[in-house]
Amino acid sequence: EARLTLFDLPLDVVTLEQTLDRLGGWMFRAPRSPHTVVTLNPEFIVQSRTQPEFVRAMQEADLVTADGVGIVWAARQLHGREVPRAPGYDIVKGLMQRHGSELRVFFLGARPGVAEQAAQNAMRDYGIQVAGVHHGYFDSSEDQRVAELVGASGAHLVLTGMGAGRQEIFNQYWRQVLAAPVLLGCGGVIDVFAG
Ligand code: UDP
Repeated sequence: EARLTLFDLPLDVVTLEQTLDRLGGWMFRAPRSPHTVVTLNPEFIVQSRTQPEFVRAMQEADLVTADGVGIVWAARQLHGREVPRAPGYDIVKGLMQRHGSELRVFFLGARPGVAEQAAQNAMRDYGIQVAGVHHGYFDSSEDQRVAELVGASGAHLVLTGMGAGRQEIFNQYWRQVLAAPVLLGCGGVIDVFAG
């Protein structure tokens, strides 16, 4: 599998199926060390131009997929390559469908109450286990406390939906404390699951 560069940022040429295979391996095969996943969209490219920490978090990510057609188009224009889409929502849904009751998920983000609703719906629809929930409107002075809460939860998959940049930087910086084998910056996906 190839990795392209788009405005200093990595982009992996992976299909949704390959993404699900890769994440499944990270979650369920030893050594289960933490991995960060970014679903790249054009807004990230623009916003990160003035936010070097965001650029670094994406450069250090273990997997960077194309969230949508904007990135697919950019890769075609700049590299003449067809990069498949692997949007955050499809990745999360695909993992829940594949792994069901085997999968322990922590929902971290969105306004208070939303992660709880998303977790309930995902439990009902896919039979997943909920490792924990926390809203995404805490002060950065609480980062460590929240990261430790996640780290103690035994999650396989952490859905971090706290807005572009914040979620990727948080996952990258706290990865060893978060400890879960897959840390996915998921944007508004928690809101979508909440319905
Ligand atoms: N969000 C959050 N904390 C914040 C900002 C946003 O938890 O400080 C959540 C927001 O409620 C939504 C998700 O992050 O569930 C994506 O928000 P938005 O679309 O505003 O962010 P973007 O990805 O466009 O930056």
